[in-house]
Amino acid sequence: MEIRKVIPSGYCKGVVNAIRLAKQTRIDNPEDKIYVLGMLVHNSYVSEELSALGIITLDDSRKSKEELLDEINEGIIIFTAHGISEKIKNKAIAKGLRYVDASCVDVLKTQSIIKEKLQDGYDVIYFGKRKHPEAEAVISISDKIHLVTDQNDLEDLVIDNDKIFLTNQTTMSYLELKDLIASAQQKYPDIIIQKEICNATSSRQEAIYKLQDCDLLFVVGDIKSNNTNKLVEVGKQSGIKKVLLIQNYKDINEDDLKDVNRIYVTAGASTPPLLINEVIDHLKRITV
Ligand code: SF4
Repeated sequence: MEIRKVIPSGYCKGVVNAIRLAKQTRIDNPEDKIYVLGMLVHNSYVSEELSALGIITLDDSRKSKEELLDEINEGIIIFTAHGISEKIKNKAIAKGLRYVDASCVDVLKTQSIIKEKLQDGYDVIYFGKRKHPEAEAVISISDKIHLVTDQNDLEDLVIDNDKIFLTNQTTMSYLELKDLIASAQQKYPDIIIQKEICNATSSRQEAIYKLQDCDLLFVVGDIKSNNTNKLVEVGKQSGIKKVLLIQNYKDINEDDLKDVNRIYVTAGASTPPLLINEVIDHLKRITV
């Protein structure tokens, strides 16, 4: 049985930068309370690693970011790689908290393109995932931004403006985006489009399409990670017989390896290299 790693896979520059910033914040402020508003990047292993440094992740699906922020009255707050709304940032400042913004540059670039289009009088269709922090930060900018999560949302959309702009969350699947753009162009022939899938996401998705004779693809990552889930979707769409999302090597079920000749392992942009290497080492061990 052959076991191969998909290249590229795993950490992207935005994730590396966010983790570096969080660790540096601890080094520079050894005595202070430090919190992350949400998961710094969507991987629970990373949150646990930060917790060991005394950096507390505030994450509760029943509470909004604003409610979580209400519970903090001192120390430093780190905003995650997915971006943050101006309202929350200003609230943290008003509370006298110091903050570190770990927003990825690619997320900030999309936000700034959207702001320019709003200034030019456009309504913005934003293709993203509901309740994802990146999408939430974007739609908080203006009520002229319309979140569309699928074709049905697009069909239901009513916009009273001739100037319409479409863009997307950075971690969407490029096939889904292509289909959505085609439908949007039919509905709004004069629509202006800017694809904003980041390089890290698109290169990881493209690498899956190029795989040869893949019988089984393991995608290592957290179920909360959008780009990880999109790798699973792309794997399935590209015709790979079996595509399995696992959080770490302990999730591997040996029954899944029966009648398999070639296994590939890929990982979301927020999956630590250690977890990917453990999966590959474990597979090599149990398949000799
Ligand atoms: S997946 Fe893309 S947008 Fe998200 S942190 Fe990485 S580089 Fe930035």
